Amino acid sequence: MFSELGLSSTVAARLPRLGYQTPTPIQTQAIPLVLSGGDVLARAQTGTGKTAAFGLPMIERMLVQNAAARHTPRGLILVPTRELAAQVHAALTAYAASTRVRVTAIFGGVGMGGQVEALRRGTDIIVATPGRLIDHMARRTVDLAKVEVLTLDEADRMLDMGFLPALRRVLAALPRNRQTLLFSATLSDEVISLSAAFTRNPTRVDVEAAQVVAATVTHQVHRVAADRKREALARILTQHGESQTLVFCRTKRGANRVGEDLADRGVRTGVIHGNKSQNARSRALDDFKAGRVRVLVATDIAARGIDIVQLPLVVNFDLPLVAEDYVHRVGRTGRAGHPGRAVSLASAADAELLRGIGKLVKSPLEFVTAPDGEGSEVRAVTEARVTPGPNPAGRRGAPGRGRRDDWKRGPHTADRHRQRQAPARAR
Ligand code: AMP
Repeated sequence: MFSELGLSSTVAARLPRLGYQTPTPIQTQAIPLVLSGGDVLARAQTGTGKTAAFGLPMIERMLVQNAAARHTPRGLILVPTRELAAQVHAALTAYAASTRVRVTAIFGGVGMGGQVEALRRGTDIIVATPGRLIDHMARRTVDLAKVEVLTLDEADRMLDMGFLPALRRVLAALPRNRQTLLFSATLSDEVISLSAAFTRNPTRVDVEAAQVVAATVTHQVHRVAADRKREALARILTQHGESQTLVFCRTKRGANRVGEDLADRGVRTGVIHGNKSQNARSRALDDFKAGRVRVLVATDIAARGIDIVQLPLVVNFDLPLVAEDYVHRVGRTGRAGHPGRAVSLASAADAELLRGIGKLVKSPLEFVTAPDGEGSEVRAVTEARVTPGPNPAGRRGAPGRGRRDDWKRGPHTADRHRQRQAPARAR
């Protein structure tokens, strides 16, 4: 029960209406700690319920109103991407709906005017990407002097994206005497040193995702030469009827080209990447969620933070640069027990990456030969190299986007025992 974690009835009573009956493990561990006022260093991935783990106790703290500080920002949440900012803002707004706590999102790609106005009217919690927050700091449209609690969400991703200098600038503007909560999917050396610099004696909270990739996902690899991928993608989409599909590309230009090619072929397609304006990104995402477009082409960073409940098909037009990102991408299919399919287009150059992916996912990779037999050289290389990997759950820090109900399954379910890695097999 949420009320047993120390949350007031004002906050706890709202949760069943959002479908939250019982706390997730990260919530059970983190909420009492955060309420007690100490710093926290938490390893938790998206899908574990981490937003509520820091969001609910932050709202709780805001309820204790200090008249002088009324609606001056006392809570700050820093996130790596605009999409995540919008998502965290929406979640906290829903949690705070029956209170007078105000939550404001600050991120780039949209005009400053609305944000300046919201800050001027007053807010209790700011959810921000670091760059745009610094713009507001420079214009003196935001005052961070009263911030009591800071959350760094997806800290590992912020470091990957080169936000360390920006984080330092923002943190220098905050009171030293504050509570700091650091959430990260992995606790790399860089994250640990970030924590050492910005937190004080943090209590460590560690939640292992119940599984790396949902067991209901099948993984297909289509061997195809790099210059034949667009035809292969069109063929795969035809094979899957009208299934909504998320297509991942490595680069923004690549995503644009794939989007144009699909549109030329008459497929209703949206494209989302970091060079698109925030409005264009939001529109593409809304169109996809509403079913107005069938295919959404995305880069990894743009796709991060997108909350799409369940997709039947994810296509990797390009494999990601690191095997862990495959897990993030594929985590969007096979959720909540639904069957899911991940199809990757791989050329000969991808053999090494496939080996890494084969080690991370539990299910075997299924190799498919295109009708014209193209790409057979990939088969030769990958089959020779994809070998059984270690128990993925034993890989500390291997990121995974678990199913939404992962926590209900607990660490000792049958899946946990079925985690011997099956070798890639060929057809
Ligand atoms: P997060 O890891 O914060 O992105 O949360 C993943 C999803 O789980 C979101 O859609 C949340 O609304 C949902 N969620 C979080 N906590 C709970 C809970 N205790 N019960 C049910 N759903 C939850």
